Amino acid sequence: MAAARLAPGAFASGSSLGVSLAPRAGPAAPRSPARGGPRRRHLRRRGADDSRAASPGVVVARAAASSDVAPKTSADVVIVGGGLAGLCCAKRLAASGVDFVLLESSDGVGGRLRTDVVDGFLLDRGFAIFLTGYPEARATLDYDALDLRPFYAGADVRFEGAFHRVADPLRHPLDAIASLDPSHPIGSVADKILVGLVRLNALLGDVYDSLTAPETTIAGRLNERGFSPEMQHRFFRPFMSGIFFDPKLGTSSRLFEFVMRMLAVGQNCLPARGIGDVAEQLLGTLPSDAVRLNAEAVEVRPKTAADGDPGGSSSSKIVTLRDGSSVESKSGVVIVATSGPDAERLAGVDERLRLKPSASGDAVGTTCLYFAIDGPAPRENCPILYLNGDGPGLVNNCCFPSAVADTYAPAGTALASVSLIGVPASPTGDALVETVRGELRAWFGAEVDGWRHLRTYEIPFAQPNQQVPTDLERDVRLGDGVYACGDHRSPATFDGAMRSGRTAAEAAIEDMGW
Ligand SMILES: Cc1cc2nc3c(=O)[nH]c(=O)nc-3n(C[C@H](O)[C@H](O)[C@H](O)COP(=O)(O)OP(=O)(O)OC[C@H]3O[C@@H](n4cnc5c(N)ncnc54)[C@H](O)[C@@H]3O)c2cc1C
Repeated sequence: MAAARLAPGAFASGSSLGVSLAPRAGPAAPRSPARGGPRRRHLRRRGADDSRAASPGVVVARAAASSDVAPKTSADVVIVGGGLAGLCCAKRLAASGVDFVLLESSDGVGGRLRTDVVDGFLLDRGFAIFLTGYPEARATLDYDALDLRPFYAGADVRFEGAFHRVADPLRHPLDAIASLDPSHPIGSVADKILVGLVRLNALLGDVYDSLTAPETTIAGRLNERGFSPEMQHRFFRPFMSGIFFDPKLGTSSRLFEFVMRMLAVGQNCLPARGIGDVAEQLLGTLPSDAVRLNAEAVEVRPKTAADGDPGGSSSSKIVTLRDGSSVESKSGVVIVATSGPDAERLAGVDERLRLKPSASGDAVGTTCLYFAIDGPAPRENCPILYLNGDGPGLVNNCCFPSAVADTYAPAGTALASVSLIGVPASPTGDALVETVRGELRAWFGAEVDGWRHLRTYEIPFAQPNQQVPTDLERDVRLGDGVYACGDHRSPATFDGAMRSGRTAAEAAIEDMGW
């Protein structure tokens, strides 16, 4: 089995600025896929086929090519981290003409959202859906260029040996009416009416109101709303677990309401060139010499006389990299755009960083397995999400990305994406693949035996803990010229990470009078 373990860095802890860090256990390069693959076909995707670990694309190629020019060693602002938060922070600084350098420890931008190309298949590093309703994404990204391909608005729920469709009543009213049949086991008629009401209610108020509204757990909110235990267990549990990786539904109701609104106002999509294309697009808006890959920051400290004075002011800071070289922030502004745990290790243990939600409980994780299918996907290649409504079993949800965007698989083949909650301690390796295959055989029949395992992504840290009580609009200012952004300052979504990046840039611009 080919497994890739994707986790945040493992630094030694330290105090505020001036801390040296132990070697970082960064994302391991996924191993090559097992067994011989199907014929390769030219992808309708930028960049080359890569069975190792790249996030290929014309823009990354440009960033890599920037190694031809001397790496930038000073700027007014240093950004640490090239996920969505760091990229949006950089984009906002660039829009105001602020000189910056962005340091990314890995070999590509995108952070937790990258796409590998394996034998011509696009493998997102963990299944993720792009919700077009996200307001920050709408304001920031060129949706047309992402070539977004929509999922069916609903899900097929596997329950007691059959699939049962739950449809968005406003987008697929006929399917929704069909689900009102009393023999439909995924919730009662009252549940279906409640879904419609929640759907309509989600459209009321300001889009970000829900993030500060009174909160309970998702389970608590579903109970309050009157959903039956069957509807909660068979539909909402696997559906929300696929988003928040929390099968007990202890995640804040604020996130539930925010996501319900996003589902109501937009579509669930996959970008045609993979989820990593979101970051590639952002990268393409930045000056070509301003992004440094394979540049891991290990220390942030004030500049001292021992560093010499190549034109910096007394407020300058020095960011030391893993290879011993350094980058200077001439203004003293350093924006840490990493995950919460990595930010704490780099910027130091600070009460403002430690505030809930991300420091209060365990992070949540997921495992994603990919299989290549010779021929079309089962069930008429339907671009829908499949949910485990029974409960027992490892598989929580699955889909066929190539049924949503045919660019995800070579011509004549299909791709299966299977998501588990957390990273199972057992089974692992080939035994995990075969256990998952056995569960899928019960769903899709004996053809699953012919599916070829491509890769397994183990992601112990997918999102910070977002259980109640939450603070989803946390300050980005840490003081002394240091700022933090990322999905630990905001909802752990694409939108939250992007918004916090912009917010941190705007805070620095305001504070510095730029
Ligand atoms: C499998 C999975 C599925 C998801 N699905 C969805 C979804 O469907 N919808 C949704 O809205 N959200 C989803 N999310 C959540 C969303 O992807 C994240 O909230 C968001 O991408 C976080 O972005 P970020 O920039 O805050 O952090 P990150 O993406 O973690 O970026 C941080 C970057 O900092 C770099 N870095 C760390 N330390 C250093 C250092 N010392 N020096 C230099 N660089 C450093 C890292 O390499 C990384 O590139 C999903 C997440 C995962 C993992």
